[in-house]
Amino acid sequence: MGRRRRKITHRRQSRTIPTIFNCPRCGRSAVRVELDYKVGQGLVFCGNCECQATIPISSITEPVDVYGEWVDIVSRERKGSIAE
Ligand SMILES: [Zn+2]
Repeated sequence: MGRRRRKITHRRQSRTIPTIFNCPRCGRSAVRVELDYKVGQGLVFCGNCECQATIPISSITEPVDVYGEWVDIVSRERKGSIAE
């Protein structure tokens, strides 16, 4: 009786597509998201303030998902005010 929720995956392109987003730290649209499905990791990198993060991804993860997660991490860091 296993009811499975089937997720419809939209596979537009299976290749790594560099995408530009707005940086939550410096506010510039200089953030690149690159997804490497082979290793299951997404790399977020800001070309302006040079902050970066590696986010684990799945085969259905899209760049905007990785970006959203990163924004979440950054805002959490800010709230906790982790000072070095
Ligand atoms: Zn930045």
